[in-house]
Amino acid sequence: MPDPYQALLERIKVINKLRAVEELLEWDQLTHMPPKGVGARAEMKALLAALRHERQTSPEIGDLLEQSSADGDPVRATNIRETRRLYERAVKVPSELVKELARTASLGNDIWTRARADSDFRAFAPTLSKLLGLKRQEAEYIGYENEPYDALLDEFEPGATAEEIAGLFAELRGRLVPLVQAIAEARQRPDFSILKRHYPRAAQETMGRKFAEEMGFDFEAGRLDVSVHPFTISMSCDDVRMTTRYDEHYMPSAVFGVLHEAGHSLHEQGREPQHAFTPMGSYVSLGIQESQSRMWENQVGRSRPFWEHHYPWARELYPEALGNVGLDEFYAAINTVAPSLIRVEADELTYNLHIIVRFELERDLVSGRLEVADIPDAWNRKMTKLVGITPGNDAEGCLQDTHWSGGAFGYFPTYALGNLYAAQFFAAAREALGDLGASIRGGDLRPLNEWLRTHIHRHGMRYRAGELVRLVTGKPLSIEPFMTYVNAKFKPIYGLP
Ligand code: ZN
Repeated sequence: MPDPYQALLERIKVINKLRAVEELLEWDQLTHMPPKGVGARAEMKALLAALRHERQTSPEIGDLLEQSSADGDPVRATNIRETRRLYERAVKVPSELVKELARTASLGNDIWTRARADSDFRAFAPTLSKLLGLKRQEAEYIGYENEPYDALLDEFEPGATAEEIAGLFAELRGRLVPLVQAIAEARQRPDFSILKRHYPRAAQETMGRKFAEEMGFDFEAGRLDVSVHPFTISMSCDDVRMTTRYDEHYMPSAVFGVLHEAGHSLHEQGREPQHAFTPMGSYVSLGIQESQSRMWENQVGRSRPFWEHHYPWARELYPEALGNVGLDEFYAAINTVAPSLIRVEADELTYNLHIIVRFELERDLVSGRLEVADIPDAWNRKMTKLVGITPGNDAEGCLQDTHWSGGAFGYFPTYALGNLYAAQFFAAAREALGDLGASIRGGDLRPLNEWLRTHIHRHGMRYRAGELVRLVTGKPLSIEPFMTYVNAKFKPIYGLP
């Protein structure tokens, strides 16, 4: 009798290949597609999504799941467990609700885009209420132990709970707010304006490409292109597409953007080819995915050792902008901390406070403790209290992010979790690799990538995020490595004791 697991695996691969085709269409749409292609593309994508959904919820998968056995093999166990998780999520939710959600989300995105342009939350509120209602229904169908938010969070950070995240965030908030305040009052201040001088695009392209290569990004198994919003999309470990954008009068955008996306890309290229199109060949969670990008962008890319090596070259590349700027001055500028209204432009410290604001609001929205109509007020109050700055209108307040307009509740916390995971992983890497600073200072980034590949990337979905952290670092996730890192880094820059 044929092995039911092998039959299951073949079906999983078909589903994931369909997904890869959808990804490729998405990449093309965001990088190369002519504007008029949008209608045909939407039809092609809808067809593929329907085909995939049909296969994902087919009773055959349910039967094969019942008959399949892991036989003590961790790869089989992972593939069976994750397929069951997705299958159960998919079949529990009625297809009418799935369709209604998809319709409302795509409509929602359109309405949100206009509402944001007009800075008019009231124009978006009815759609958001409807979406929220549908997501609550979805959470009820999926089921949860403590609160409906957990069922939604599970889509992005499997196994995490709101309660556990709230605990971490409360500690983080308690330690970060005073630090940000002390920095705001510090007399020693970086000169941020040097990053807004003229940085020719060609030089930025050269720099981004060189950094990605040094990190270990394989250009034979990936590409770097341009898009409005940077992203990374992966078809397999041998075909990973990342993008960036260039601003000749804002240097961090492309340079740190490429480091960030290349961090995601290494995570994708680091999986084992034999697991392609299966859960073992996928990433664990968005938080773990983000930990890889943030580590390369911040722990490495905004570190002093990294620029000790690269700064002389940077000055040659941008003589006009950096000719009269010293390394210390440049290093301080790229690590400027300043409360700001827009999350995507926030520094390493206040970024987490932006996330805490969103997490607290969306948790209250899903549980019904907060009404949609009260979002702008609640948002502005929390921003004032946590970040120390009050939005002047909804566009720079509660309408700035696209996530809720597409029904993505439970996504935001993964960004801050990513920062916490990154700090804890990086501390473990430093312990394991000895003087990691020395290798970075010497321009050798390979040891870090090798370590990440061995301890994180190649495991795919084998461990839940929490388990992976314990396995790699010997401890459960905590805010301590992050706080140690930011205190050691930012206090000297701002001349704080
Ligand atoms: Zn990212």
